[in-house]
Amino acid sequence: MKDYDAIVVGSGPNGLSAAIVLASRGLSVLVREASETIGGGARSLELTLPGFQHDVCSAVHPMALASPFFRSLPLADHGLEWIQPPLPLVHPFDDAPPAVLDRSIAATGATISPDSDAYRRLMAPLVARWDQLVPEILAPMVHLPSRPVSLARFGMRALWPATSLANTVFKGNRAKALFAGLAAHSVVALEKPATSAIGLVLAASGHAGGWPIPRGGSQRIAGALASYLLSLGGTIETSAEVKTLDSLPPARAVLLDVTPRQIERIAATRLPESYKRRLSSFSYGPGVFKIDWALSGPIPWTYPECTRSATLHLGGSANEIEAYERAAWNGTITGKPFVLLAQPSLFDAARAPAGRHTGWAYCHVPNGSREDMTEAIEAQVERFAPGFRDLVLARHTKNTVELERSNANLVGGDIGGGANNLLQLLARPVLAVDPYRTPAKGVYLCSSSTPPGGGVHGMCGYHAARSALKHTFGQQA
Ligand SMILES: Cc1cc2nc3c(=O)[nH]c(=O)nc-3n(C[C@H](O)[C@H](O)[C@H](O)COP(=O)(O)OP(=O)(O)OC[C@H]3O[C@@H](n4cnc5c(N)ncnc54)[C@H](O)[C@@H]3O)c2cc1C
Repeated sequence: MKDYDAIVVGSGPNGLSAAIVLASRGLSVLVREASETIGGGARSLELTLPGFQHDVCSAVHPMALASPFFRSLPLADHGLEWIQPPLPLVHPFDDAPPAVLDRSIAATGATISPDSDAYRRLMAPLVARWDQLVPEILAPMVHLPSRPVSLARFGMRALWPATSLANTVFKGNRAKALFAGLAAHSVVALEKPATSAIGLVLAASGHAGGWPIPRGGSQRIAGALASYLLSLGGTIETSAEVKTLDSLPPARAVLLDVTPRQIERIAATRLPESYKRRLSSFSYGPGVFKIDWALSGPIPWTYPECTRSATLHLGGSANEIEAYERAAWNGTITGKPFVLLAQPSLFDAARAPAGRHTGWAYCHVPNGSREDMTEAIEAQVERFAPGFRDLVLARHTKNTVELERSNANLVGGDIGGGANNLLQLLARPVLAVDPYRTPAKGVYLCSSSTPPGGGVHGMCGYHAARSALKHTFGQQA
């Protein structure tokens, strides 16, 4: 077997990012991917009918656009083109015009009366310092901040439970609902601490950079990363599941783009029992039920604002969203699901045959649930877009078990690489100054189970590779 300086197990955005950091330092790097195609959570396939290109996992990419690492790469030269829909996000209601996350804070405020001023006071300071804050927010938990005051100000708000922050800051139901939908991306019950963090980050990223989609689908992100890696001399093997580290060619460093449950198995012979015990107490959050549609036309939303964004939050009031998310967090399903929906083909003709459209949606469900949520999700779409069902030419669904079968990182359908509770925001996957480095010589973790966690931004891979550069290769990171 040829030997390498470094081997990366898994070709998700974090695995490819780690490989790029190492290859750009002149190291020989091999990426081994279990699936037939690269990309992990950044893949697109014809899931329904010929000519309909669906995003298998991620679809909308505020964090990819904000990522300091992605921004440092020549991804446009390798085929990545962002499309910015006019609005980052729309949140429809039953009998009133939607709340809208607009690029402008004032325009957003105008849709969440009477909380226009309160929203501006909450968001304007964050958005004004966004460029300096992003590298801090997407850094390992233990680091010396270069903007300690701004970070502390963000942290003071971010640590609040989303329900408490919304009820303290906002008077009206429209702003509370908009914020509940944003914070629900944490996949944690909204009365838990630190659920405001993701809500604030997603809102700020909408104002500062927008919520873009990649032309041609999320696979283009993985494709651009892989193309750049190959140009640096890296090697990628697909259909090459790694069952144990002992099966790998010799390498000085191995970086694992997998979650703790798999690490315990893959690195079993190398890791001390004490570390394996710590990994085994890492917890996974609720899973998701995913659905993709091939549609004969655009979704017939009641309110025209809904056609101006690729992303919609379908859940109605804050109370409804909170109740549903609390139930999913507690392992049950009650009420109408909070549905995250994307309609990329409205803005990207490459996604469907002329005149046809694609739809992408998911809702949270208990970890490991086999519940078929098709009917409940479609009823939520129909609620805000009567006549939607008549447009469905074909649908493709995946419950949590099927999701995990397609990507072993989606443990029990958890799309974030582990629960985003307060403890695991601080200790991800274990409490350590350098959470990327394991006690096994040359073995590192680089998946979203490390800081800063889930989302397509590559920052976990970037930080893990810098740790490997320092500790294994003796290079300045
Ligand atoms: C339905 C869904 C919707 C999402 N929506 C969004 C969104 O809109 N925006 C966003 O930013 N994020 C979204 N995400 C989250 C995002 O996809 C993930 O946070 C991100 O992909 C994590 O990257 P990663 O590299 O850590 O892991 P992954 O992308 O999961 O990649 C891990 C890779 O490792 C491979 N692998 C696992 N085990 C082995 C093994 N033993 N040997 C070899 N290879 C192995 C897997 O096959 C996979 O390719 C979504 C995820 C899902 C599932």
